[in-house]
Amino acid sequence: EYFSFPSSGELPILVRNIRVLCRLRPGTPSSLVSVEPGPGGTVTTCYRGRQRRFCLDWVFPPDASQEEVFRELEPAVLSCLRGYSVCIFTYGQTGTGKTYSMEGPPEDPGIAPRALQSLFREMGAGGQHRVTLSMVEIYNEAVRDLLAPGPPERLAVRQGPASQGGIQVAGLTHWDVPNLETLHQMLSVGRSNRATAATAMNTRSSRSHALVTLTLRAAYPPRGPSPAGTLHLVDLAGSERAWKAGVASVPRGDPNSAQRLREAQTINRSLLALGGVMAALRSRRPHVPFRDSQLTRLLQPALGPGATAVLLLQISTRLEDLGETVCSLKFAERVG
Ligand code: ADP
Ligand code: MG
Repeated sequence: EYFSFPSSGELPILVRNIRVLCRLRPGTPSSLVSVEPGPGGTVTTCYRGRQRRFCLDWVFPPDASQEEVFRELEPAVLSCLRGYSVCIFTYGQTGTGKTYSMEGPPEDPGIAPRALQSLFREMGAGGQHRVTLSMVEIYNEAVRDLLAPGPPERLAVRQGPASQGGIQVAGLTHWDVPNLETLHQMLSVGRSNRATAATAMNTRSSRSHALVTLTLRAAYPPRGPSPAGTLHLVDLAGSERAWKAGVASVPRGDPNSAQRLREAQTINRSLLALGGVMAALRSRRPHVPFRDSQLTRLLQPALGPGATAVLLLQISTRLEDLGETVCSLKFAERVG
């Protein structure tokens, strides 16, 4: 219903632009969270004596496989071959499976590797497309290039020409990707650069946003510049309100506590900004507050008119996470 299929064999045409899908972290569910899977599925929570029912575009059954999740996303992924801009986000509390869904373990690949494989298969071996890749991390509002040849330096995000979506990231590297194998190699370089930073700063990887951007252009346009399709795969920082839970447990005088608080505040601000942008786009408000965070600034060219966004909401069904689960569902309700 979100994509119409013109005729068999043709690529889908986008009809509606924001979808919210929900996946549960496997584990013993609490009786206070119940789901009705499928299209138009629901999640019902009972929190602090109040029952709430959240409606989503799709709720995966608790044991959904990586393949099942990707099947729902594939039409959106392939629509970037028609020149559309597509953003796929994983949103949720740390530990709910965002990175598992986006990357997956090597033996059970997630959305990113499947999307790339599907795109390259669809493009064929004819060399009709030019594919470029960039990869950044946003940590504490600092943007870093995960594929830079040297040590990742902080990049400046500037206003740019409207023809480039109004945004320019000074010094960001864009790599030509001749084939799928090279692409996988580059992604693992980017991932390990993110992981290196994570070890240096402990839990940093769950406190940063990671953005993989793939741009597809027709290699030999018959006439005029060809429209570029883009695919953004965004593994968002954990949405938990760490400043309520986490920071309270950091001992007084711990040099990390100030940093934790700052991290948590910037994450909250940027996720709030993302929610604000998506809600504004959904209700076609004239003002879209892209400038409220680096995340939304970077995605401004990708979230404009004609773009499509899919939010994969990851939730925990454990009793101790119920407060965060309700918060995540409220976020989804606001944007979806
Ligand atoms: P997040 O990125 O949201 O912090 P992770 O993706 O790191 O969470 O997942 C936390 C842990 O749970 C990891 O060990 C991961 O392998 C596991 N996990 C998450 N989702 C699944 C799933 N659907 N099936 C199996 N293991 C999962
Ligand atoms: Mg993660």
